[in-house]
Amino acid sequence: MKVLKFGGTSVGSPERMKKLVPLIQAPESKIVVLSAMSGTTNSLVEISKALHDGQPEQAKQLIGILEAKYKEVVKALYTKEESLKKGTELIKTHFEFLYSFCLNPFGNKEEKAILAQGELLSTALVHYYLEELGIPSVLLPALNFMRIDDNEEPDLHYIEEHIQKELSRHPSVPVYITQGYICRNMFGEIDNLKRGGSDYTGTLIGAAIHAEEIQIWTDIDGMHNNDPRVVEKTHPVTELSFDEAAELAYFGAKILHPTCVLPAQLRKIPVRLLNTMQPEAKGTLISEKNSGASFTAVAAKDDITAIKIKSGRMLLAYGFLRSVFEVFERYKTPIDMIATSEVAVSLTIDNTRNLKSILTELREIATVDVDSELSIICVVGNFTAEKEGSAFRILQSMKEIPIRMISYGGSEHNVSILVKTSQKKAALVALNNGLF
Ligand code: ASP
Ligand code: MG
Repeated sequence: MKVLKFGGTSVGSPERMKKLVPLIQAPESKIVVLSAMSGTTNSLVEISKALHDGQPEQAKQLIGILEAKYKEVVKALYTKEESLKKGTELIKTHFEFLYSFCLNPFGNKEEKAILAQGELLSTALVHYYLEELGIPSVLLPALNFMRIDDNEEPDLHYIEEHIQKELSRHPSVPVYITQGYICRNMFGEIDNLKRGGSDYTGTLIGAAIHAEEIQIWTDIDGMHNNDPRVVEKTHPVTELSFDEAAELAYFGAKILHPTCVLPAQLRKIPVRLLNTMQPEAKGTLISEKNSGASFTAVAAKDDITAIKIKSGRMLLAYGFLRSVFEVFERYKTPIDMIATSEVAVSLTIDNTRNLKSILTELREIATVDVDSELSIICVVGNFTAEKEGSAFRILQSMKEIPIRMISYGGSEHNVSILVKTSQKKAALVALNNGLF
């Protein structure tokens, strides 16, 4: 069985929803994972913000605008009386639910329930549309099987067991539709896999059912060799290994959720990135196979903070780095890049939620400097220790650009370079000219 995930723009209007039909119509069973219609989750975030800020009138207004949009969608999507009625009923139920939050105290739990409405709506709308066309489909409620654990990590065993239960209730249906992004947490409350998390739902389900392939359908023809929003003349990369794709997704390629490659890699399930606007385009195939190319792609991740930790105690001593890392561990803050010298270590983080406390603790053991507004430029390719010249070509391409930190040799597939965000565009363009 294949898993096909469609992003927000692919279900972004009634016309786009209709265009899904030829892509999912084949008689063999498949699981279709849908995002919310594009813009909806952003609106739900705004509504939640108004409620957090104690502005129920503003929230009501925003809900009203969204409701009007969905009423139009129902009108344009269906032609039969029965589907129109069902669609109208659906909108009524979900929007009454949203309005109900304007009357009651509001917290994080309520926010997560609000954020779940987008995917619940899009999946039901498409399900009714297929019904209208006479294409058999079943809605699998993601809240019955998607689950995160106490570390907010997906619980693959739970997902595996519970999705099987759902599937066995409706054997051999051609189209199973389910919600991306939404899940339950360890307390059974509604939660989510964070923004952009529908990709992750797709690969988790793919892993859970040992799918033959996972397809991620978006509005671009695959993963590009550089950021198409910043650099002209980028091109889609046709093949990537799991390792390369994981580095690119983590370090800024917006097409994929940062950790969504991992479940597919775990079970060796190929992932294909495809374009709903151009379904015949080849896209990108992510698999175990290594392309062997010297340089595959470049991506950049913004909002990086660098911390330089300097201490005489580091000289010829052991255990110093451990005490540094323990500070980050205590504050659940992942470190991205590291560079060390004999008396100092520089490292980068992107989660600055606990930066103040981290700095206070670090200053008890060392001199500490902090820089922000930095970007990590991640060059992905094949950089085995036996191969000469890769670092030279990267640095030669970047000869005009001031570099804050370099990390080479951490993995065979990634060279990371830290620059000021103001230099990011220049760096991406220089690498595009020098490497591809
Ligand atoms: N709808 C969610 C978002 O906009 C999840 C997703 O589309 O991947 O972040
Ligand atoms: Mg996405």
